[in-house]
Amino acid sequence: MTEFADLDSTDAAYVRTFHARIQARPPGAVVLDRTYFYAVGGGQPADRGLLRAPTGRTVDVVDVTKSGSAVLHRVRGTPEALADLAVGTEVEGALDFDRRYRHMRLHTAQHFLSARIFTRANIRTQKAKLGGREGTLDLEGAVTAALLSELAEDAAEAHSHPRPVRIRHVLRAEWDRHPSARSGLVRLAGHIDPVRVIEIDGIDACPCGGTHVRSTGEIGRIAIRDPIPLAGGGCRLTFTLSEETATRSV
Ligand SMILES: [Zn+2]
Repeated sequence: MTEFADLDSTDAAYVRTFHARIQARPPGAVVLDRTYFYAVGGGQPADRGLLRAPTGRTVDVVDVTKSGSAVLHRVRGTPEALADLAVGTEVEGALDFDRRYRHMRLHTAQHFLSARIFTRANIRTQKAKLGGREGTLDLEGAVTAALLSELAEDAAEAHSHPRPVRIRHVLRAEWDRHPSARSGLVRLAGHIDPVRVIEIDGIDACPCGGTHVRSTGEIGRIAIRDPIPLAGGGCRLTFTLSEETATRSV
C-alpha cells in the first residue's frame, strides 16, 4: 500500500522532492511506501520526474498509475540504475515541477470556470480534462457570447483579486446530507469517506482528488476559445493559461 502524501493540504501539492522506501518492484515499475507523484485520474494527467538511488544514479518516472491501494511508478533507465532499485532501498523522488504546477493551475482554473458557468447560466460540467497546456470542459448546455464575456470578466477578477483555495475533508454522511457541489455531475463511489473537497473561497466546493494551487491568483490569465457544439445540445470549451502568474508562491 502506498501512502498518498499530497492529499491533505494545498501546501503538500508544492512539494518537489521527498524520500521514500521501495516496497515492491513489479516489472518495469517501482512501488514506494509514500509518494508525492500524482497518479493519472480524475481528468488530471500523471506526474513525471525521477527517482535517485543512494548511488546517485537516477531513473526517469515516465508514468504513474494506481493499482488497487498501490501507486505504480513506471521507470526507465540504464540497467545499472534499475539494478539500484531493490526492495527496501531508500530513494529520493523528484517531480517535474513545471509540468505538475501547470496541472495545478489548469485544474483550479477548471473548477473556477465550472462553478462560474453553473452560477451564471445553470449549466453543469459533464466532463473535464486537463492535458499539455490546455483544459477542456464538456458542458451540458450551449454557451452564449454574452456568457463568454462574463466568464472573461470573472477570470480577470480571480487574477486581480485572488481568492484562497483550501482542502477540506467532510464525512460522507454529512456530505450526502448537504452536497455543496452543484457545478459538476459528481459521481462519488460508495466507499469514499471522508470526501476530499476543494474549496475556492466564496466560489465553489467540489469533491476532487487532484492537485491545486493555493490561490486563484496563481492561475494566471485564462483565455477561453470559442465553444464547439456537441451532440445533444452541449458544447466543449477549451481554455489556456498565460505563462505569467500574479502571485506564484513556490
Ligand atoms: Zn477536480
